[in-house]
Amino acid sequence: MGIKSLLDGYSRFKKNEYQHQRELYLQLEKEGQKPRVLFIACCDSRCDPSIITDARPGELFMVRNVANLVPKYSPDGKQHGTSAAIEFAVRHLEVEHIIVMGHAQCGGVKLLLETVETESQDDFLTSWMETATEARDHILSIGNRDEKVDTQLALEYEIVRLSLRNLMTFDWIRERVVDNTLQLHGWYFGVAKGELHRMDPVTSEFKLIEYE
Ligand SMILES: [Zn+2]
Repeated sequence: MGIKSLLDGYSRFKKNEYQHQRELYLQLEKEGQKPRVLFIACCDSRCDPSIITDARPGELFMVRNVANLVPKYSPDGKQHGTSAAIEFAVRHLEVEHIIVMGHAQCGGVKLLLETVETESQDDFLTSWMETATEARDHILSIGNRDEKVDTQLALEYEIVRLSLRNLMTFDWIRERVVDNTLQLHGWYFGVAKGELHRMDPVTSEFKLIEYE
């Protein structure tokens, strides 16, 4: 897909989608956004949350980064793009739900597994993926005991759990979760079958979401 095909797509958007949703777009600019959901997903081109959930403009406040990672709360004066977006969504927009969605064949996860054995040459990716080192080490220690474990898949699930745990290190998230004004959700997208899985909040296991 080149730029021409994107511009063709824009032309279709302007003639179809925008025309059908014109009032909504006008209203969203006039009254501002009031999304109820913060969606944290991977940058990966195969798992677009708006497509998967058929969401409308204004419904999802989105953070996409490599491997859908949430770092621990650390206000150290450095540039934290993900934490800044989370703060905007929670403290300014007052979203009611945060969904962290992992996905199949995640390149960031693959890289994290490769760097166990090889030295990485990347300028930024390595330190970013170090956010998930504890998840990787945990999964590798289980993998040693059970040969059948699909390490990549297990780590993709584990990173969702880690991101949810790290969200709870933000005081203003933990307080809202305790007050029940904010709910956290773990999802996983199986690309080939287009299937969504949801993490059980009690067992932390992922189960296929039934659809009508
Ligand atoms: Zn990914």
